[in-house]
Amino acid sequence: MAIIFLNQSECPICKKTLDKGQDIVLFPSFTSDKNDKFYVFNDEGAHRSCLQKTKLGIEALKFLKTKSPI
Ligand SMILES: [Zn+2]
Repeated sequence: MAIIFLNQSECPICKKTLDKGQDIVLFPSFTSDKNDKFYVFNDEGAHRSCLQKTKLGIEALKFLKTKSPI
């Protein structure tokens, strides 16, 4: 699972820090391929609201569901 530091790690979409109390989606380390379209989320955390605002983010959320049994 991604290791993020609250108030330090940045959301790859909005570039703002991930703060305590926000709805943050954690992505595991799932690829080492920099050409992977989801590479930006690899081993990262992102705001759920940001993911839901972008097409790639929505796809990443679907992709994440196939990776982890939520
Ligand atoms: Zn964000």
